[in-house]
Amino acid sequence: MKIARFRYEGELGFAVLDQAEDGSGIELVELIGDPMVTGYDTTGRRIPLEDARLVAPVIPRSKVVCVGKNYADHVEEMKHVTGGGTADVPEEPLLFLKPNTSVIGPDDQIVLPTIAERVEHEGELAVVIGAVAKEVPVERALEVVFGFTCANDVSARDLQVKDGQWARAKGFDTFCPLGPVIETDLDLADATVETRVNGEVRQHGSTAQLVHSVADIVSYASHAFTLLPGDVILTGTPAGVGPLVAGDTVEVEIAGIGILRNTVV
Ligand code: MG
Repeated sequence: MKIARFRYEGELGFAVLDQAEDGSGIELVELIGDPMVTGYDTTGRRIPLEDARLVAPVIPRSKVVCVGKNYADHVEEMKHVTGGGTADVPEEPLLFLKPNTSVIGPDDQIVLPTIAERVEHEGELAVVIGAVAKEVPVERALEVVFGFTCANDVSARDLQVKDGQWARAKGFDTFCPLGPVIETDLDLADATVETRVNGEVRQHGSTAQLVHSVADIVSYASHAFTLLPGDVILTGTPAGVGPLVAGDTVEVEIAGIGILRNTVV
């Protein structure tokens, strides 16, 4: 099931995506509230998808937890970047945080900070947490997952190197595009994660290549912080990261979820 958050006639709402009964396209079936809180009861209203504006499908309640260096081929390509942490695949997930103020939605603009010289894309699978989770064992970790969406862990690479700590480099406003929808039933075995810039494929990986699995990451993070419903975990990026410049259109597509598209200004 695909869950969207949308703006229509000046109001924000939540919806489930469904085929129009006459076969004319996709419609938003409006829900009475946030499905994470109020479930899936509908208002009965159906809105053609093209008439609404999709916004970030979730605003993280307290934090975006990110995993660095979780694809071996990306770790390899980062070896020339000093100050980026260890040069090897970490034995345990390497965690950092992005503030929830970095989140934007589909078709929103990524704003290049004037103080950054090299801003790069990192297409990633994002996990949306659906329940309060503290010290969850690996074998129960997927029970606290609400669903999955596409993310772009936008990173100011020069500041990441300069600072050593990654909070500023990865925490700028607009540096965490999420969307376009939350898929509640994604097959994690081999979902393709592809990033394109102006239509050119830059990154092409699969969740089959994750060093630490989604269940491992959720469990591990929950042993550090209490995860709240609406918190989001980014699972790392495959090889192929590269620069974004003003005027670019960047797309992160995950098979089974959709395409997260943003322009760069
Ligand atoms: Mg990343």
